[in-house]
Amino acid sequence: MKYIFVSGGVISGIGKGIATSSIALLLKSAGFKVVPMKMDPYLNVDAGTMNPIEHGEVFVLDDGAETDQDLGHYERFLNESLNKTSIATQGSIYLSVIQKERNLEYDGECVDVVTYVTEEIIKRIKEAGRSKNADIVLIEIGGTTGEYQNVLFLEANRIMKLKNPGDVAHIHITYLPVPSSIGEMKSKPAQMSVRDLNAVGIQPDILLARASRSLDQNRIKKLAISTGLEPEYIISAPDVDSIYKVPVGFEDQQLTKKLLSKLGLIEKNADLPAGRQGLKEWQGFVSKIDSALREPEGKRTVKIAIVGKYFATGDYTLSDSYISVIEAIKHAAWTQALNPEIYWVDAGKVEKNPEILKGYQGIIVPGGFGSRDIEGKIITIKYARENNIPYFGLCYGMQLATVEFARNVLGYKDANTTEIDPDTAHPVIHIMPDQEKKLLERNYGATMRLGAWDCVLSEGSGVRKLYGKKDISERHRHRYEFNNDYRQEIEKNGMQIVGTSPDGKLVEVIELKDHPFFVGTQFHPELKSRPLDPHPLFIGFIEAASKIKAS
Ligand code: GLN
Repeated sequence: MKYIFVSGGVISGIGKGIATSSIALLLKSAGFKVVPMKMDPYLNVDAGTMNPIEHGEVFVLDDGAETDQDLGHYERFLNESLNKTSIATQGSIYLSVIQKERNLEYDGECVDVVTYVTEEIIKRIKEAGRSKNADIVLIEIGGTTGEYQNVLFLEANRIMKLKNPGDVAHIHITYLPVPSSIGEMKSKPAQMSVRDLNAVGIQPDILLARASRSLDQNRIKKLAISTGLEPEYIISAPDVDSIYKVPVGFEDQQLTKKLLSKLGLIEKNADLPAGRQGLKEWQGFVSKIDSALREPEGKRTVKIAIVGKYFATGDYTLSDSYISVIEAIKHAAWTQALNPEIYWVDAGKVEKNPEILKGYQGIIVPGGFGSRDIEGKIITIKYARENNIPYFGLCYGMQLATVEFARNVLGYKDANTTEIDPDTAHPVIHIMPDQEKKLLERNYGATMRLGAWDCVLSEGSGVRKLYGKKDISERHRHRYEFNNDYRQEIEKNGMQIVGTSPDGKLVEVIELKDHPFFVGTQFHPELKSRPLDPHPLFIGFIEAASKIKAS
């Protein structure tokens, strides 16, 4: 097995996840079995307990692991589902070491950080590769070089390289700013970030230079001299209008070949006429993006509103909290040669004036927790239902659609989810008994209903038609459920239950009759949408939205 580490320097947010995903795709296209893996420096055991404002989206895998949004990128680029061995937080690593110490597994030795923690890191890396029989494990190291937090991951990299120099490579992603007052691309911070890496005993094999534009020969020469890298191993990674173009840009600079040569490997697919068969399909997808974006303005656009609460909260990037929803919309739109325009609508503002929803062709209420702006979301759903605007409710969006229906169609004015009002007389969404126990015990970590669960779709439903099959499996992350006491009454009044768990006990999908598109899912379909395999429900939603007149 070969190992490639990816680190980042200068600033955070330079697109390490996208670069790692792109490299994974390129290696896969060259015929290798690649397993990407994220090493996160924080002490949380997983991402599940973090606030989305802190962390961005929690990406859930089939096996229920609550992970970092980069895992979403890996899956989307590779078009493969990963498992929990592809994520390791520093917290989870320390937890394993400390548990072993408590079990006397270290035979009474003094458990030092270096040796035992680094050994555990190396063990996790090897496990990730073994779990999928990989040729190459691609390890993205979270954080920025030069900081204290991720130094143990780099130390594990150094040790692995020392033991098996031919099997380990390192790619450093750095950043070259173009300060507006100077107007010139500056390479000093990039030089310093490589020096930081050298200081912990690592010399990169390849430098990926993120910048607003490609590097010129001058910059390459400077970097080559200061870092000791041959100029051909310095690859430009300029800003592009779509993240999905990044692999193509790398390939134009022969990154795969150069990287493989560092590991003593040659492309397995080199004898194929077009070079890389896998990338051909990807390039086809990229040209679809271009043609959708090229459409005359306004003609083939589709305006989608995402109505939620996490808006206007200051500095953090909102799009990070809903990244899979955004990507799923794009995948579905591009396959229909549509250019998606996504608008963030603050549910609090809708509560004051629902008319601000006018003009959108489709409305999504995504997943969420807690009570803030809940009434605004319910008013949004009412607006979509009554005005025949395509509506797609994802998890909380499905639960609140049920609440809205109970209030305004069944006439139970106080209907609610017990997450918001535990004492409501009409708890149309309620907590499962096992979940209640966990909350009472303050047992929050990794205890929701998580991961992939099977679901059976009803004959004749719109949803089943879109999937084109009866049995599906989708990913979940929630504690509350549809209350079966209201099933009959709700169905009698026109909201259909079109997807349930195989035993029929849990309601997973609702659909409204006589509406262009009104679907709510207890699961998160956005987590399984892939560029080369857009999600059927998002395709249906976008198609319905495209038929609505925009304004
Ligand atoms: N808060 C809701 C629950 O726990 C919905 C969760 C979500 O949207 N992911 O059931």
